[in-house]
Parts: sequence; structure tokens; C-alpha cells
Amino acid sequence: MDYYVLTLFPEMIEQGLNTSIIGRAIEEEILSLTAVNIRDYTNSKHGRCDDYPYGGGAGMVMQAQPIYDAYRSVADGLDYKPRVVYLTPQGRVFNQEMAKEFALSEGIVFLCGHYEGVDERVLEEIVTDEVSVGDFVLTGGELPAMCMIDAISRMIPGVLHNEESAEDDSFGDGLLEGPQYSRPAVWNGREVPPILLSGDHAKVDAWRREQALMRTADRRPDLLETAAVSPKEHAFIQNYLANKNKV
Ligand code: SAM
Repeated sequence: MDYYVLTLFPEMIEQGLNTSIIGRAIEEEILSLTAVNIRDYTNSKHGRCDDYPYGGGAGMVMQAQPIYDAYRSVADGLDYKPRVVYLTPQGRVFNQEMAKEFALSEGIVFLCGHYEGVDERVLEEIVTDEVSVGDFVLTGGELPAMCMIDAISRMIPGVLHNEESAEDDSFGDGLLEGPQYSRPAVWNGREVPPILLSGDHAKVDAWRREQALMRTADRRPDLLETAAVSPKEHAFIQNYLANKNKV
């Protein structure tokens, strides 16, 4: 997977992603990451990439020309048409299913906006997907691009090593993951649930599944509508909620 990030702040992308698991995958050449500085492509003598909005109003708008030329510098070197993601609070809200789907791409170009946003005409010209990371407004698209790159990369074979498998994580099977514990067995007077110390893997798996069902019912009941949950498990959840409400 080749990632290209069009940004006014390439150092933010490089510093943010060249560490830990993603940094290791870049070193192992499973991923490549190129941060393209939009400012390097401006025709303005003064290095400008933004200007006042037509029609007035607050803030500045990123201009079409430097973004388009930065995009062409990437696209002209590829033998396929990449997906181009514009990060915007107006886009489709990102989730795990989208991460899995994006992970099948050969390469992705991310366009990070800043200030009031980007001239609409260049979005019409190059963007294939508009994606949001949630219903809030950030100062720029760099953090959303990094979120997406991190989540997509975890879905690419080889990025996570065996011990870091994504399947058990929240959303892996459509549910939230249950609670996790590590040593010591008693901390601050709080004990680890005894079943986890029993060495009985079948019982531990069954306990974990029940915890995931209860946690999802408590925190994200909407997920139960689409998760693969058996009729027996649905009955377990109903029973759990009925007992909980009695207390
Ligand atoms: N004026 C824009 C609007 O109302 O939709 C918001 C511009 S925002 C201050 C600046 C840039 O941050 C956007 O162009 C976008 O790239 C990025 N951004 C802000 N919030 C975001 C979000 N929730 N998801 C993805 N990108 C976001």
C-alpha cells in the first residue's frame, strides 16, 4: 500500500506516522508514506497557497492550483488511478468497515484541508471520496488522515504481527471487546476475574464472548443490530439487561 498525503504540514504526517507499528511496517516496506508539501507547487512568488473567499466571509480558502499540481506530481508517476480522499467534516463518517475496504486499494492519496477549507473546483476535479472522522471540526485534515492511515494499515496483512491480531479488537466481529487485565493478579485490592487464571481456554473464550455481548449492550446497543449474534446470545443479552434493570 502506498500512501500519499497532500498537506501544508508534511512534518506533522512524517513525525506522526514514522513510529511504533506503522513506522515498523514502513521500515519493512509493507507500506510506503510520502508527504507532499502543497506549498512546493504554488505558482505564487510569495509561496501563497490560500486566498480570501469570493463573496466575503471569515478565514482563508486553500487555492486550487497548488493542490492540483501537487496531486499531478503524484498521479503522473502511477500506472493506476488512485483513490483521492478529501478529509472533511462534511464527508461520510469513517468506520472499521471503510478501513477494511480502503485496505484493498493499491494506493491512496489524502488531501488535508486547512483554514476555512479548499476551493470546491479542485475537489470536483480530483477527489473520489470525502471522509470525516466525526461530527466535530478540527483545524486541519492531518490528524484525520493519520487516523485513517493507522486504521487502514492495521487491516493490511503483515502490518500487525501475530500477537497484535486485529480480529479480537472491538468491531473485529461487530462487537466491542470486553475488559482486559494484566499482572499482578491483585492490584489496589482489585482482583482479576478468577476465570482468567483458570487455564481453561474454552471457558475463558466463553467468558470473553459474554463480556463482549454485555459491554456492547451497555455501551453501543446499535451494534447488536448488525453483529453476528446467535438467537441464544440474544436471549443472554435480554436476560442480562432485564436483571441489570432490576438492580
Ligand atoms: N469550513 C469547513 C466546514 O465548515 O465544513 C471546515 C474547515 S476545517 C476548520 C479545516 C480542515 O480541517 C478541513 O478542510 C478538513 O480537511 C479538516 N477537518 C476538520 N474537521 C474534520 C473532520 N471532522 N473530519 C475530517 N477532516 C476534518
